[in-house]
Amino acid sequence: MTDKPNLLVVSRVMTAPMQAALEADFTIQPLFEQEDPQAWLAEIGADIAYVLTDGHWGVRPEVMQHLPNVKMISCYGVGYDNIDAVTWNSRGAVVTHTPNVLNAEVANTAILLWLATSRRLVRDDRHVRDGKWPDGGAPLTRSVDDRKVGILGLGRIGLELARRIAVFSPEISYHTRTEKPDVPYRYYANLTEMARDVDVMFCITPGGKATHHLVNRDVLDALGPEGTLINVGRGPVVDEQEMVKALQDGRLGSAGLDVFEFEPQVPAALFAMDQVTLLPHVGSATVETRRAMGDLAVNNLKQFLANGTTISPVPECQP
Ligand code: NDP
Repeated sequence: MTDKPNLLVVSRVMTAPMQAALEADFTIQPLFEQEDPQAWLAEIGADIAYVLTDGHWGVRPEVMQHLPNVKMISCYGVGYDNIDAVTWNSRGAVVTHTPNVLNAEVANTAILLWLATSRRLVRDDRHVRDGKWPDGGAPLTRSVDDRKVGILGLGRIGLELARRIAVFSPEISYHTRTEKPDVPYRYYANLTEMARDVDVMFCITPGGKATHHLVNRDVLDALGPEGTLINVGRGPVVDEQEMVKALQDGRLGSAGLDVFEFEPQVPAALFAMDQVTLLPHVGSATVETRRAMGDLAVNNLKQFLANGTTISPVPECQP
């Protein structure tokens, strides 16, 4: 027997350093290793006060129903759309996440996708590898310089991204629900209007009901045949079926995508398109940034265990 409290680990989120740090204080209970997770949870669920999860797995209803006594959920990631933070808060539990430490990396990934998509990096790399260069160079591409750029979502990551975009583009606009004070960028209250006025649109909002299919057919058509869509926020923010059709019909010019509506499933129609760049949700996936996220996820748990406070609670759970 041990007097360390149980820590339910929902997904394969733990790195070796995280595990070492957590084992000192918690008894690790790995849900992802169970053959019959539901039966195992039914048995152990009432003894779980702490949970470690990630933005993708969150704490879904089938897991949540077995956890009546949770005090704290630490999410490794800033997005927590699969954790019902309002309900957990009403039950007296705190949900934390890992904001800020990943801003720069996700912004870098967005820039990477934009440059790769506009300059057809993947297509041209394939051109060289396939031995086609001696038969002729690759077709010309479009420059990223002096484009009009719009950002959907100007929060922690969106602001970091805007600073990087400014190196290329003198004209940056944004759409959010509320106009942000003290930013030098043009505000659009209407997303379709912004899409009509820009050449490139970045999406960096949270997922969830409020943003579901915000980028719909009208927005895609407004972006238009010369327009580029870069999505590093959440897949369901874009109506994926409409996006694929728009790309197929040439109504949308190109797309750079780190996130997908039903990831890890990706529409097969995209695989044959030179005008898209596809990444497997790696916005924050560098050694340095994942280490910082791991440290914050671990430190939230340890601090809560020590004195009942947390470093980075989600807005719904802020005291
Ligand atoms: P913030 O909460 O700081 O910013 C979110 C922004 O989105 C705010 O400007 C907010 O403004 C805007 N927003 C929210 N809802 C809407 C809406 N319905 N319509 C228009 N704008 C909206 O979050 P972060 O910048 O820290 O992170 C943003 C998201 O990026 C995360 O939630 C996550 O989903 C995603 N992400 C993706 C990663 C990846 O690997 N690809 C890695 C990390 C994060 P307002 O409230 O005024 O509307």
